[in-house]
Amino acid sequence: LAERLEDAWKKLRGQDKISETNIKEALKEVRRALLEADVNLQVVKTFISEVEKQALGAEVISGVRPDQQFVKIVYDELVNVMGESNAPLAQADTPPTVILMAGLQGTGKTTATAKLALYLRKEKRSCLMVATDIYRPAAIDQLITLGQQIDVPVFELGKDVNPVEIAKQGVAKAREMGVDTVIIDTAGRLQIDPEMMAELAQIKATVQPHDTLLVVDAMTGQEAATLTRTFHEEIGITGAIVTKMDGDSRGGAALSVRCISGQPIKFIGVGEKVEALQPFYPDRMASRILNMGDVVTLVEKAQEEIDLSDAMAMQEKILEARFDFNDFLKQMRLLKNMGSLAGVMKLIPGMNKISGDVLQKGETQLKQTEAMINSMTKEERGNPDLLAKSPSRRRRIAQGSGHSEAEVSKLIADFTRMRAMMKQMGMGGGMPGMPGMPG
Ligand code: GDP
Ligand code: MG
Repeated sequence: LAERLEDAWKKLRGQDKISETNIKEALKEVRRALLEADVNLQVVKTFISEVEKQALGAEVISGVRPDQQFVKIVYDELVNVMGESNAPLAQADTPPTVILMAGLQGTGKTTATAKLALYLRKEKRSCLMVATDIYRPAAIDQLITLGQQIDVPVFELGKDVNPVEIAKQGVAKAREMGVDTVIIDTAGRLQIDPEMMAELAQIKATVQPHDTLLVVDAMTGQEAATLTRTFHEEIGITGAIVTKMDGDSRGGAALSVRCISGQPIKFIGVGEKVEALQPFYPDRMASRILNMGDVVTLVEKAQEEIDLSDAMAMQEKILEARFDFNDFLKQMRLLKNMGSLAGVMKLIPGMNKISGDVLQKGETQLKQTEAMINSMTKEERGNPDLLAKSPSRRRRIAQGSGHSEAEVSKLIADFTRMRAMMKQMGMGGGMPGMPGMPG
């Protein structure tokens, strides 16, 4: 018991720090989550050791376990590392803005070209799409068909002209037409190929794009890292589009792309349709990669709602048995702020099995309890013993709150019992035996 008391105090004084031992398991979990999300191993290692360094010694928020808090720190850092949300496409001072698409075959370059064109059109920026994939049969037709769908013109010169030449003439055409943006779709190979790289580099040198976007399939997995490195070193990218995020992939490729190139992910593809393009939100991607959203939410809520100094004052009161109905009300409101009881319980491992009925009942009881406390005078709230002694006070509260005298008596008895218990435990929270709580 004394030990628990001491623990409680340590936590309160903020001496409970994140240490290598108290986050060991969480570290393992995070590493596993990242690898499962297909983040490149090297990226995982670098990322984790950075975060661990940052986290060690951090004070633990009261009411949260150090390992849970660590996951939150990882999450925050992940969001941070992932870069800007909604990074805009380049826009040239004098049109046309030139966007060059790069990537392996089948990643979704041609589709993304049309998606971007549609997106820009909605932003009232006119487009021309340029078909330079002369290798894959029907690649040009594919772009033409997409162009018809979204009502955006396509520039092509058939399969017998050199892609560099097509790109060059495409940009000239865009200038002539006076369109705002020209998007150059390119050919890809199944694997990184020196010939393809050379051709792409040549196109880039010729058209001098304002944006060079690497299109990466979210399913690429570990390979995304090598891929990004090669493209970035040899071509130089200014952003990326991660496609096929509508699949099961957890999106680890996004982290690899970002970490290795340092360039923003500008959009994600979420389907085969031309409308299936979304801006990139680092927080959503971080949640998806970590797949530990629940813990993160819990810690966030705790962080938002628990005012440390308030909690400390409360603990002191508990230890000195000065805890009164005012404090109780505060605790109840805290609980409310943290969302419905059911919502909070669901976030706690092992608690999610409590049936909805029981929780519903708990919430109703909490409301009734609050009504009774609201009917108490300030003096009574501050000095619960007054109520224990006076039946007439209890009667008045019963009438005021619309509850029976028996209910009021029970609340006061429960409260007194709880206060004694809390004092004994030396712990706040008031969860066990808290009046109005099921169980
Ligand atoms: P490219 O070889 O890089 O030009 O790739 P394509 O644009 O031809 O796309 C290859 C395949 O992926 C096609 O069947 C597309 O419909 C599909 N695709 C492209 N983007 C997405 C996406 O975001 N989600 C899904 N589910 N499929 C996509
Ligand atoms: Mg293509």
